[in-house]
Amino acid sequence: MLKPDRSQKRLGKSDLNVGPISYGHWRLAEGSAAEAGDKTRAALDAGMTMIDTASIYGFPDFGAAESLLGEVLKDEPSLRQKMVLATKAGIYPPTPYDCTPDTIVETCEASLRRMNTDVIDLFYIHRPDMLTPHADVAEGLMRLVEAGKVREIAVSNYTPSMFAALQSKLDRPLIANQVEFSAMRQDPVWDGTLDQCQQYDSTLIAWSPLGGGELMTQDAGEKSQAGAVAAALDAVAVRNRVDRGAAALAFTMISHPGIVPIIGTQRVNRIAEANAALDVEMTREEYYQIVVAWRGVGLP
Ligand code: NAP
Repeated sequence: MLKPDRSQKRLGKSDLNVGPISYGHWRLAEGSAAEAGDKTRAALDAGMTMIDTASIYGFPDFGAAESLLGEVLKDEPSLRQKMVLATKAGIYPPTPYDCTPDTIVETCEASLRRMNTDVIDLFYIHRPDMLTPHADVAEGLMRLVEAGKVREIAVSNYTPSMFAALQSKLDRPLIANQVEFSAMRQDPVWDGTLDQCQQYDSTLIAWSPLGGGELMTQDAGEKSQAGAVAAALDAVAVRNRVDRGAAALAFTMISHPGIVPIIGTQRVNRIAEANAALDVEMTREEYYQIVVAWRGVGLP
């Protein structure tokens, strides 16, 4: 039987260790600071020790999610030691992207101020900026590391060749590539992203493991790719007596033992419930049925 590996995950070659599931703050600005505290504490209590945010989260109120976390940390500073804090820079609608060194450094400094902290554990380039040469992106990242403002660096939504090109300009490792990966978006297995993470000892961090909620509301009887994926997940869910979300999260984690998914529910009770995924078992055949449902054609 295949099962998620529930052990702590070491991020890349770094000293950062995180729980097998992480908690994301993308949707956090939908609620108050008190609610942000409840959600963040619930995640940490459930062993989701990496908190994932970004300067853009809360847009059109740029920085709003980081500011809410800053209020939480101001009220309860001890929470900071309990989390691996990850944030991102590089998206500025409607531009939309700017990864020039000064912009990245200034954005990071503003994030530190907003979050009431003096160091970011994991700092990402949020999306590739076609107009900034990799050497310049590397310069911005290295300035932040050398100034002690960030502990580790990573990228998000980078193609494998972009990752390799940026890495070639850095003298320290990119410890992760954070990409969309779920039963509904299995491309990272096929486009070289997961292979490259293994090649470079970098961690694949999976955003929207429930397809941003789409997987949960999908009609499993619908004659479509999404319907077929939902039906294949439901078969696993029914046998394990869990909901489809737990089966979907398990699929993401089973795809490689190093993968760390980031969940994004804004309901406090659903945060701890997500740990049900860690007990889900599936056969190889069930796993491949989810792959085939996504592909739309059988495997040779
Ligand atoms: P997700 O966990 O795939 O989706 C969360 C959504 O699913 C929420 O709207 C949630 O609604 C809904 N949901 C959860 N359980 C449900 C259930 N049982 N029934 C119905 N709906 C359910 O993740 P996500 O929020 O899209 O993304 C997670 C994190 O990934 C973000 O917070 C962010 O940190 C990161 N991310 C990164 C990028 C990037 O470019 N790097 C992009 C997107 C996201 P409720 O709140 O009502 O539970």
